[in-house]
Formats: sequence, structure tokens, C-alpha cells
Amino acid sequence: SSNTDFLLAIEDLTVSFDGFKAIAGLSFYMDKNELRVVIGPNGAGKTTLLDLICGKTRATEGSIKFKGKELTRMSEHRIVWEGVGRKFQNPSIYEGLTVFDNLEASYPRGRGVFGALAFKCDEEVVERIRQVAREIQLDDKLEQEAGLLSHGQKQWLEIGMLLIQDPELLLLDEPVAGMSLSERLETAELLKTIAKGRSVVVIEHDMAFVKSLGGKVTVLHQGKILAEGSMEALQQDRRVIDVYLGH
Ligand code: ADP
Repeated sequence: SSNTDFLLAIEDLTVSFDGFKAIAGLSFYMDKNELRVVIGPNGAGKTTLLDLICGKTRATEGSIKFKGKELTRMSEHRIVWEGVGRKFQNPSIYEGLTVFDNLEASYPRGRGVFGALAFKCDEEVVERIRQVAREIQLDDKLEQEAGLLSHGQKQWLEIGMLLIQDPELLLLDEPVAGMSLSERLETAELLKTIAKGRSVVVIEHDMAFVKSLGGKVTVLHQGKILAEGSMEALQQDRRVIDVYLGH
């Protein structure tokens, strides 16, 4: 099979910051509807990898193909339009608005040249907001002010603000940071459901959470992939224990 069969095919990717290679000849492949966790020590290049995929940082060398299209020279806006959604560590919700209005504000109106013509009728937008609210388990909180949500619910709302744009690839940087144990467990279930219709990359440090997600884990170290496999297999891998799990 050729690399165009992958949803995401990253090959020989390098980015240098003043001569230091934060990503150093990395190749990384993802299928459709895959939930992938990326782990590794601080400074391994995890956040930089997501920055490169979403166009926030530009590669020095190499290629990032998404649905067969080269992303390395596309604008950040265009990459969003192509179907890549990125969540950063700190939620950027509108605390003074309701959950409904936060989702409404993120509804993708006006894409491309004919954007002005692409306004959807209100009913269609409302239905889509309800659907996303169910996915993030906030369908009973639509009229609540976002600032009054729990920390975990705010994180889910931000995921919802990405989902409403219907991304095919969702990039999440430490989505459970600061969450309670029950919120972490709920988030694992929520992400597994979300990944049934799209691919999700999760950077994570919480090994219990990584295990509850299941699926394939990629270990980054010094800007390269050190190992890939199930969390259970990686826990037996001497190289992974030495650079990360043993600490
Ligand atoms: P991780 O997310 O795995 O902790 P990062 O991707 O944040 O690692 O960082 C990888 C390395 O690249 C670190 O040594 C970091 O200091 C460096 N780095 C990241 N972004 C920049 C930047 N914009 N300028 C200079 N160095 C950077």
C-alpha cells in the first residue's frame, strides 16, 4: 500500500531552532479513525510535532501529507479548513457566554470564496450544536454560562468547539491536565467515542489515562520515534523504561 492510504503520513520531518533539531528526521503514520497517544520525556518534541502538523511551526525538511495533500506550505487557516483541529493546553472558551453560544461562535460559517453564501439556516446550526453537545456530555448545560462549568467540562467544551468544525484529525495536547479522576475516566470514554468517526492524537503524561484510552502509543525521544505499540508492550520495553517510564 502507498503512503496516500494513510490519513496522515509524516516523512523525514525535521525542524531546527538555531541549529537544535527539536524534530529530527521523524516519520509517523496514522490511519483513519485511529486514536493515538504520544508520550515521551519533556523536550522530546511532542508539542512541536503537533505545532508542525497544524502549521503553527514550519518544518525545516520533510513532508506532512494529510489525505494525500502536502501541509508543510499551507497556511494555518487552510490546514483547519482541510480538517485538522488543534486543542492547546489552556482552554480558550468565552467564559461569559453560554455553552450554546460558545459552540455557535465556533460554527464554521463562511469558508472559502463563497463563504458569504454558505450561511446555514438556523435550525441546521442548532441541530449541529445539540449533536456536538451530546458528544461532549454537555447537552443538559447548553444555557449555562461557560465560566461556571467545572475545569473538566471547560476542556470538553473546547473539544466541542473543535468538533463543530467537523475535523477529520483532532490534535489534543494534555487534555486531562488538572482534571479530577472521575473527569479523566469520563474523558477517556468521550475520546474513544469521538475517535470512532475521526482520528485523534493525544499528547499525554498520565499513564493511567493512556492505558484507559487503549490503542497504539508512540514514544518520542530526542525528536524521533523511539518505540510504538500497546502501552502494555511498551512497559516491557527496556529502551522506553530507560528514557521515560522508569523515572
Ligand atoms: P515536549 O512537548 O515533548 O516537552 P517540545 O516540543 O515542547 O517538547 O520541545 C522540544 C524541544 O524543542 C525542547 O528542547 C524545546 O526547548 C525546543 N523548542 C520548542 N519550540 C521552540 C522554539 N520555538 N524555539 C526554540 N526552541 C524550541
